[in-house]
Amino acid sequence: MTYLDANATQPLRPEARAAVLAALALTGNPSSVHAAGRAARRVLETAREAVAARFGAAPADLVFTSGGTEANALAIHALGAGLRLIVGATEHDAVRAAAPGAAVLPVDGHGVADLDALARLLREGPALVCLMLANNETGTLQPVREAAALCRAAGARLHVDAVQAAGRIGVDLRDLGADSLALSGHKLGGPQGAGALLLAPGHTLAPLIAGGGQERGRRGGTPALPAIAGLAAAAAQTAPPLAPHAALAPLRDAAEQAALAAGAIVIGAGAPRLPNTTCLALPGVRADTQVIALDLAGIQVSAGAACSSGKVARSHVLAAMGLDALAGEAIRVSLPWNAAAADIAAFAAAYQAMAARLSRRAA
Ligand code: PLP
Repeated sequence: MTYLDANATQPLRPEARAAVLAALALTGNPSSVHAAGRAARRVLETAREAVAARFGAAPADLVFTSGGTEANALAIHALGAGLRLIVGATEHDAVRAAAPGAAVLPVDGHGVADLDALARLLREGPALVCLMLANNETGTLQPVREAAALCRAAGARLHVDAVQAAGRIGVDLRDLGADSLALSGHKLGGPQGAGALLLAPGHTLAPLIAGGGQERGRRGGTPALPAIAGLAAAAAQTAPPLAPHAALAPLRDAAEQAALAAGAIVIGAGAPRLPNTTCLALPGVRADTQVIALDLAGIQVSAGAACSSGKVARSHVLAAMGLDALAGEAIRVSLPWNAAAADIAAFAAAYQAMAARLSRRAA
């Protein structure tokens, strides 16, 4: 089997697995004052320091969550309270669902946010802007630094969903100049079940779930220590000079060349993109048909965003890019951290065979 669906979830890194197993062997609750509790607390705080340092925040400004969805929801709930919300048109549903009624920031045909439109929207009053660093379907990178400067000048706040960018390109909250940043462990090669919200200095957070006052009262509930330890271990593997994802770009390019030769269109190719992601439309062939055909050939990819129900909706990302006609015909190929040339060769052969069969039928 060839796994090319890293943007849904990455294979677990061996270092993360080891950290998870070590944390599972501990019995204490990090909130307990006895020795076992203190040992658990040490694991939690060591992970906090490592993840905060890796992504440009102070340890006290990092709140562990259950994943990217919760980190985004917490940011919007806490930093957006009483403010108008402005949300990028291609944001993940984790953001869109947490910001009902938000003004939509349009994107161009490559999926890049329109900064002139942002400047206009910011003139309408105090706001929280949500702009992702990298799109999960196309890999398109957003001009977050420039958006942060506009927000600062307008007295607005900026929340950045860095779930797909973290560990794949340089991500540093201080350097971006944003107010907050969401991360997810399983997109980095950690286990599912842990994520983090990083804050710029000076932000206080009202919790979504108050509970027992954990995470300095910002997120109630006993932290998922093994998942958090795994998140930290995975994040460490993406730190320079390891930077393993840069090496994926030539493999991604080779996959694209094979698909182009078979009649595919590469979506968002005109914009800076993540090195591991390509979004390929095959005109006239439904995305779910492509996914099933490739799966039968042993290649695992997805149709746009992964849906929990397994159903494939038309992509709101492609629709926002003005590509309505292709919105139901595009698949996402996302290379995991351990992708190899043999995976791309297998993909190329399967894609070309599929395209020859299905494109002919569609014509
Ligand atoms: N944000 C983006 C851009 C994503 O791609 C995803 C998951 O696909 C999420 C948020 C949600 O993250 P999680 O699965 O950790 O809740």
